[in-house]
Amino acid sequence: GTNTFKEKVFFTKTPQKTSDLGEKFAAELKSGDIVFLKGDLGSGKTTFTQGVVKAFGNKGFARSSSFMLVNEYNADGIKLFHIDLYRLKLSSVWDIGIEEYLYSGNISLIEWADRLVGAENDNRWNVEIENTADTERKIKIEKKK
Ligand code: ADP
Ligand code: MG
Repeated sequence: GTNTFKEKVFFTKTPQKTSDLGEKFAAELKSGDIVFLKGDLGSGKTTFTQGVVKAFGNKGFARSSSFMLVNEYNADGIKLFHIDLYRLKLSSVWDIGIEEYLYSGNISLIEWADRLVGAENDNRWNVEIENTADTERKIKIEKKK
Protein backbone atom coordinates (compact mmCIF):
# COMPACT_ATOMS: atom_id res chain seq x y z
CA GLY A 1 0.00 0.00 0.00
CA THR A 2 1.26 3.49 -0.77
CA ASN A 3 -1.20 5.39 1.35
CA THR A 4 1.21 6.07 4.18
CA PHE A 5 2.24 9.60 4.98
CA LYS A 6 5.21 11.25 6.55
CA GLU A 7 3.54 13.62 8.99
CA LYS A 8 4.47 16.75 10.92
CA VAL A 9 2.34 18.89 13.19
CA PHE A 10 2.82 22.59 13.93
CA PHE A 11 0.98 25.13 16.05
CA THR A 12 0.88 28.79 15.05
CA LYS A 13 -0.30 31.65 17.21
CA THR A 14 -0.70 34.37 14.60
CA PRO A 15 -1.58 34.67 10.89
CA GLN A 16 2.00 35.81 10.27
CA LYS A 17 3.34 32.55 11.76
CA THR A 18 1.04 30.56 9.50
CA SER A 19 2.31 32.47 6.48
CA ASP A 20 5.90 31.93 7.69
CA LEU A 21 5.25 28.19 7.90
CA GLY A 22 3.93 28.23 4.33
CA GLU A 23 7.07 30.09 3.28
CA LYS A 24 9.30 27.40 4.84
CA PHE A 25 7.17 24.58 3.49
CA ALA A 26 7.64 25.97 -0.02
CA ALA A 27 11.25 24.77 0.03
CA GLU A 28 9.95 21.18 0.01
CA LEU A 29 7.91 21.66 -3.15
CA LYS A 30 9.05 20.44 -6.50
CA SER A 31 7.72 20.35 -10.02
CA GLY A 32 4.53 18.28 -10.28
CA ASP A 33 3.57 18.56 -6.62
CA ILE A 34 -0.06 18.96 -5.63
CA VAL A 35 -0.97 20.36 -2.23
CA PHE A 36 -4.42 19.67 -0.80
CA LEU A 37 -5.34 22.39 1.70
CA LYS A 38 -8.00 21.24 4.11
CA GLY A 39 -9.80 23.05 6.90
CA ASP A 40 -12.90 25.09 7.65
CA LEU A 41 -13.60 28.52 6.21
CA GLY A 42 -11.34 30.98 8.02
CA SER A 43 -8.91 28.35 9.25
CA GLY A 44 -5.97 29.82 7.34
CA LYS A 45 -5.62 28.01 4.02
CA THR A 46 -5.22 31.23 2.06
CA THR A 47 -2.89 32.69 4.69
CA PHE A 48 -0.66 29.61 4.44
CA THR A 49 -0.71 29.85 0.65
CA GLN A 50 0.37 33.49 0.78
CA GLY A 51 3.56 32.33 2.50
CA VAL A 52 4.20 29.78 -0.23
CA VAL A 53 3.63 32.44 -2.87
CA LYS A 54 6.03 34.77 -1.07
CA ALA A 55 8.74 32.09 -1.11
CA PHE A 56 8.33 31.75 -4.86
CA GLY A 57 8.97 35.45 -5.31
CA ASN A 58 5.39 36.69 -5.32
CA LYS A 59 5.70 37.77 -8.92
CA GLY A 60 3.97 37.33 -12.22
CA PHE A 61 0.51 37.21 -10.77
CA ALA A 62 -2.15 36.48 -13.35
CA ARG A 63 -5.74 35.59 -12.96
CA SER A 64 -6.28 32.58 -15.12
CA SER A 65 -8.25 33.21 -18.26
CA SER A 66 -10.00 29.87 -18.16
CA PHE A 67 -11.87 30.35 -14.93
CA MET A 68 -11.93 32.57 -11.89
CA LEU A 69 -10.89 29.92 -9.42
CA VAL A 70 -7.20 29.94 -10.25
CA ASN A 71 -4.52 32.47 -9.44
CA GLU A 72 -1.31 31.88 -11.29
CA TYR A 73 2.22 32.90 -10.27
CA ASN A 74 5.36 32.59 -12.33
CA ALA A 75 8.56 31.75 -10.53
CA ASP A 76 11.58 31.29 -12.82
CA GLY A 77 10.65 28.35 -14.97
CA ILE A 78 7.86 27.00 -12.82
CA LYS A 79 4.31 28.10 -12.23
CA LEU A 80 2.42 28.09 -9.02
CA PHE A 81 -1.34 27.62 -9.26
CA HIS A 82 -3.50 28.61 -6.32
CA ILE A 83 -6.86 27.00 -6.90
CA ASP A 84 -9.89 27.63 -4.69
CA LEU A 85 -12.79 25.26 -5.29
CA TYR A 86 -15.02 26.79 -2.62
CA ARG A 87 -17.58 28.19 -5.01
CA LEU A 88 -17.49 25.26 -7.34
CA LYS A 89 -20.30 22.76 -7.55
CA LEU A 90 -19.12 19.22 -6.93
CA SER A 91 -20.32 18.04 -10.30
CA SER A 92 -18.35 20.63 -12.21
CA VAL A 93 -14.90 19.93 -10.79
CA TRP A 94 -13.84 17.88 -13.79
CA ASP A 95 -15.61 20.16 -16.28
CA ILE A 96 -13.18 23.00 -15.78
CA GLY A 97 -10.09 21.34 -17.16
CA ILE A 98 -8.45 21.25 -13.78
CA GLU A 99 -6.19 18.38 -14.79
CA GLU A 100 -4.38 20.78 -17.10
CA TYR A 101 -3.17 22.53 -13.97
CA LEU A 102 -2.61 19.51 -11.75
CA TYR A 103 -0.66 17.43 -14.23
CA SER A 104 1.21 20.22 -15.99
CA GLY A 105 4.49 19.66 -14.15
CA ASN A 106 4.01 22.82 -12.16
CA ILE A 107 2.89 23.20 -8.53
CA SER A 108 -0.76 23.40 -7.48
CA LEU A 109 -2.17 24.40 -4.11
CA ILE A 110 -5.85 23.61 -3.82
CA GLU A 111 -8.32 24.90 -1.26
CA TRP A 112 -11.40 22.72 -0.68
CA ALA A 113 -9.56 19.88 -2.38
CA ASP A 114 -11.96 17.34 -0.90
CA ARG A 115 -14.14 18.29 -3.89
CA LEU A 116 -11.47 16.85 -6.14
CA VAL A 117 -12.39 13.23 -5.79
CA GLY A 118 -10.13 11.11 -7.95
CA ALA A 119 -7.07 13.34 -8.04
CA GLU A 120 -4.75 10.75 -6.58
CA ASN A 121 -1.15 11.37 -7.37
CA ASP A 122 2.19 10.36 -5.92
CA ASN A 123 3.43 13.90 -5.50
CA ARG A 124 0.66 14.85 -3.12
CA TRP A 125 0.79 16.75 0.14
CA ASN A 126 -2.01 17.25 2.61
CA VAL A 127 -2.03 20.40 4.70
CA GLU A 128 -4.79 20.24 7.26
CA ILE A 129 -5.54 23.31 9.38
CA GLU A 130 -7.61 23.24 12.55
CA ASN A 131 -8.86 26.17 14.57
CA THR A 132 -7.69 25.20 18.07
CA ALA A 133 -8.16 28.57 19.81
CA ASP A 134 -8.90 32.18 18.99
CA THR A 135 -5.73 32.82 17.02
CA GLU A 136 -4.11 29.42 17.35
CA ARG A 137 -4.03 26.93 14.50
CA LYS A 138 -2.94 23.32 14.41
CA ILE A 139 -1.34 22.61 11.04
CA LYS A 140 -0.67 19.06 10.01
CA ILE A 141 1.54 18.55 6.96
CA GLU A 142 1.66 15.12 5.38
CA LYS A 143 3.49 13.83 2.36
CA LYS A 144 2.23 10.87 0.50
CA LYS A 145 5.08 8.41 0.00
P1 ADP B 1 -9.28 30.14 4.67
O1 ADP B 1 -8.56 30.37 3.39
O2 ADP B 1 -8.98 28.81 5.30
O3 ADP B 1 -10.76 30.36 4.56
P2 ADP B 1 -7.99 32.59 5.53
O4 ADP B 1 -6.53 32.35 5.47
O5 ADP B 1 -8.61 33.36 4.43
O6 ADP B 1 -8.75 31.20 5.75
O7 ADP B 1 -8.36 33.34 6.87
C1 ADP B 1 -7.86 32.98 8.13
C2 ADP B 1 -8.39 33.96 9.15
O8 ADP B 1 -8.02 33.58 10.47
C3 ADP B 1 -7.84 35.36 8.92
O9 ADP B 1 -8.84 36.29 9.24
C4 ADP B 1 -6.70 35.44 9.93
O10 ADP B 1 -6.43 36.75 10.35
C5 ADP B 1 -7.27 34.62 11.09
N1 ADP B 1 -6.24 33.98 11.95
C6 ADP B 1 -6.12 34.13 13.28
N2 ADP B 1 -5.11 33.41 13.78
C7 ADP B 1 -4.55 32.77 12.72
C8 ADP B 1 -3.45 31.88 12.61
N3 ADP B 1 -2.72 31.45 13.67
N4 ADP B 1 -3.16 31.42 11.37
C9 ADP B 1 -3.89 31.79 10.30
N5 ADP B 1 -4.95 32.63 10.35
C10 ADP B 1 -5.28 33.13 11.55
MG1 MG C 1 -9.34 30.69 1.46
